[in-house]
Amino acid sequence: MNDHRKLGRELELFDTDPLIGAGLPYWLPDGAAVRHALEEYVREAERRAGYRHVYSPVLGKRELYEISGHWSHYSEDMFPPMDLGGEQVVLRPSLCPHHAVIFRSRGRSYRDLPLRMAELGGMFRAELSGVLGGLTRVRAIQLNDAHIFCRLDQVADEVRSALELIREAHRALGIEAARYRLSLPGEGGKYVADPELWRRAGALLVQVLEEAGIPYEEAGGEAAFYGPKIDVQVVDGAGRESTLSTVQVDFHQPARFDLGYIGPDGKRHRPVMVHRAVIGSVERAVAHLIEVHGGAFPAWLAPVQVLALPLSEEQRPAAEALVRRCIGAGLRAELAGPEHGTLGARVRAGRLVPYQAVIGPAEAAADQVSLRLRDGSRLPARPTAEAVEQVLAGVAVRPS
Ligand SMILES: [Zn+2]
Repeated sequence: MNDHRKLGRELELFDTDPLIGAGLPYWLPDGAAVRHALEEYVREAERRAGYRHVYSPVLGKRELYEISGHWSHYSEDMFPPMDLGGEQVVLRPSLCPHHAVIFRSRGRSYRDLPLRMAELGGMFRAELSGVLGGLTRVRAIQLNDAHIFCRLDQVADEVRSALELIREAHRALGIEAARYRLSLPGEGGKYVADPELWRRAGALLVQVLEEAGIPYEEAGGEAAFYGPKIDVQVVDGAGRESTLSTVQVDFHQPARFDLGYIGPDGKRHRPVMVHRAVIGSVERAVAHLIEVHGGAFPAWLAPVQVLALPLSEEQRPAAEALVRRCIGAGLRAELAGPEHGTLGARVRAGRLVPYQAVIGPAEAAADQVSLRLRDGSRLPARPTAEAVEQVLAGVAVRPS
């Protein structure tokens, strides 16, 4: 497999600068286009699955994280607090506390549950500079996160649906899970102490995995500090395993934030929080996609979907018209003219683009386009409008 750091720079997807800092990559236009398509896909898949999106700030008062338990269980991964007008604020290490507060901000009834709150939001991790590289170990993370607030008897269904959403996304993205890991607590004070809580949450996850017939391995010491989780593991080009998607059951934070809803009995009850990430961090997901596809992204994700190639300067106006037409139709299209070399050289340079449109004198005169696909095959020349429709249909396909 490929190394996303090398390929990411060659394909001009992202880069870093010592002046911005280690572990703080920036995204170039082609990388931003991939990321944008990925984020849009995730939001749409979540919307269809009954999630509602929110925005919350990337920092909060230290007290918020003291209540959530991050401050006492997770502070070594957090940035030091900033003093601001007599208060301390911290860059958030996770989105959960904000979402718990948003849940708490309105009166909730059993009719509101399950309440699925999603956000593609920023969070921060104080990684040591020695381990930073590319997009996999970064200090500023965009997390595809969601929290489902539900009744205890709804947890299994919600975990199952989250796993289905993950599998659907992996198929669309061309990602293969290496294994499912049931991450349990280990020794030491990293984990909240409540054996009954761990037992119940772990049993729920096992129940869903076994009912779905998903093989899994147990791993001690890999749980979140507040609860056990199912981690969907992938393997990178160097054979290193990492977690992309995750589903977690949490009884701890609902208690810490004193979350409640009014049941059919008119009494106040405590919801359970299911934390889940479909693609995990956007940085790690794109790193993995670069490696898996060697830069030849599925057409719907490709930074450039159509490359117009005029044979000579005379066909430039026709090629420009095609690019305008494609962009107007919602496609990502560019032009590579003769100043970039011979037609053969331009075809090779654009080999990762799903559709190349070569325009010679015959095509320009007849307002036609002859499409060339990534596998080298060529479709018969056809009227430009039809060719654009054909590309649109191809780009709309997501393996399912
Ligand atoms: Zn969470």
